[in-house]
Amino acid sequence: MNFYIVMQGRTYLEEKSKGVIWSLIKDKSGQTPHFWERMKEVKAGDAIFHYVKGEIIAISIASQDCHEGKSPYQASDSTLGFTVETAYEELERPLSIKENLQAIQPLLPLKYSAFQEDGDGNQGYLYPCNELLALKLLELISDLNIYEEAQEQLEFAIGTIASKERNTLIPVLAETESEAKKKLRKGKKKFKQGLSPLWDHQCALCGINLPELLRATYSKSWKDSTDEERLDIYNGLLLCCNHEILYDQGYIAFDGSGKIHISNEVSNSEYGKYGIHSKMRINRREENKPYFKWHKRNIFRK
Ligand SMILES: [Zn+2]
Repeated sequence: MNFYIVMQGRTYLEEKSKGVIWSLIKDKSGQTPHFWERMKEVKAGDAIFHYVKGEIIAISIASQDCHEGKSPYQASDSTLGFTVETAYEELERPLSIKENLQAIQPLLPLKYSAFQEDGDGNQGYLYPCNELLALKLLELISDLNIYEEAQEQLEFAIGTIASKERNTLIPVLAETESEAKKKLRKGKKKFKQGLSPLWDHQCALCGINLPELLRATYSKSWKDSTDEERLDIYNGLLLCCNHEILYDQGYIAFDGSGKIHISNEVSNSEYGKYGIHSKMRINRREENKPYFKWHKRNIFRK
């Protein structure tokens, strides 16, 4: 299962009434922008978050792979486009992106993000949604639509209508959440198994080798990596928990020669506490270099 975010605006009602998402194939200049091209990737079973005017207002599960189909807007219009039949579940309480930006923003990819840094939606149609972002959106949607509402119903003891709607939404949320978790867990397990021998099953910096303390960490973040990069054992390092957080949060980075760079946010007098010093170097391979470079440019705190 893959996840997507569709930006619908004015087209939402018509597309929902036909149970589809739909885009043109080419623009006026004969090009297919990435947010239409991506329609072709959608497969039956994929989950789609529907964004309208600042909020996620529905979630849907595609019932068929993308194919070419007629425009849903006017019966007389025979324009062909990319179409995906999908089962809409409208949220009783939409999720505002801006109000939850603090939780959402760190999970947005640098490239092809559905939302801008200030939380506004980007122009375009279909955007990718990595599993970490999907899990966060699902969690926020559940908080709003299941827990808070259940709480209110307990307080006021009203309404069977709302609970009927939740009966179809809850399984969709539960299913998609478990799929996202499974995909993350499987990907990370495979990654760690492949990567551990490269670092002799010990922290690349300090040599700690207690398996419980070791983490396989990405250089190019999960949210920014392609599926191949997520499995590429050179896109990461084996580090102890302490060094893993320092690396993941950009307090340390490595250059092409494997030499450590330490952020100015860590004062020299504190290096010892964190188990780092400025002469550290790791035994990098040639294939690590592009990923170290990406990490140093995008994650490192200088
Ligand atoms: Zn370490």
